[in-house]
Amino acid sequence: MGTYVITGAASGIGAATRARLASAGHTVIGVDIANSDVVADLSTPEGRSAAVAAVTEMSGGVVHGLVCCAGLGPLSHTPGGKLVAVNYFGAVDLATGLRPALERADGGSVVVISSSSTTTQPGIPEHLVAACLDGDEATALHLGDEATAIPAYPASKLALAWWIRREAVRAEWIGRKIRLNAVAPGMIDTPMTNAPDLDPELAKALDFYPVPLGRRGRPEEIAAVLEFLVGPGSTLLCGSIIFADGGTDAQLRQQDW
Ligand code: NAD
Repeated sequence: MGTYVITGAASGIGAATRARLASAGHTVIGVDIANSDVVADLSTPEGRSAAVAAVTEMSGGVVHGLVCCAGLGPLSHTPGGKLVAVNYFGAVDLATGLRPALERADGGSVVVISSSSTTTQPGIPEHLVAACLDGDEATALHLGDEATAIPAYPASKLALAWWIRREAVRAEWIGRKIRLNAVAPGMIDTPMTNAPDLDPELAKALDFYPVPLGRRGRPEEIAAVLEFLVGPGSTLLCGSIIFADGGTDAQLRQQDW
């Protein structure tokens, strides 16, 4: 049994993943802005440092897996900069801060949540993606605010996927036996897509999102993929982005490989 850290553990995909890993007998440390073992605001560098310190102490300095689920959605009335701060820097800084604890597990694993919006939504602001990948948080937040949440969302998730691809093969990670991978979910039925306070017009538009499977995904279905990716069953996967979207990406990009 291992020690697994899940950000965004209080709701949706994070909560489903927490339940799945706990029922398998693992020790799970949840991190969220409220209602969790570690309460921290991952939109700020101070909140991320506090989360890393608390998790390191609670885990005894050994973490087998980290699943970064904390995120803000495009329909949530959130400024684009804050969305980028949580979705991209909240994941990257937690993974980096917990690297020593992951290394001590001698086979640690990190999984972040990207999104199928990275390949389905047109007009992603490339300069915002570049600022994220440069680690320039001030510029990225400024560009996110300028772009607004709807384009900032896929930009934050594309940057996260490319960060995984870039970093996974570096000595700092795989050289320390830490695997980095990502899931790119399609539309999943969680408060991010079904909360009553979402912009009503935009929420209605979600019903037209193309899903060959014919329905939204359930958080438990993503939790099953996350359990596989973060655990010992996926030891050959390093830098993989797994689309779990009911066929959306395959339908829209049949020959794009
Ligand atoms: P959710 O809203 O149910 O859960 C998000 C969690 O993140 C919440 O518990 C929230 O409190 C936490 N969070 C938000 N801001 C935070 C902050 N500043 N500090 C700490 N925690 C914070 O949404 P979900 O659908 O479960 O989303 C989980 C992840 O999956 C997100 O990264 C999201 O972008 C991604 N995703 C979701 C969908 C979908 O359709 N639901 C699709 C693709 C990707």
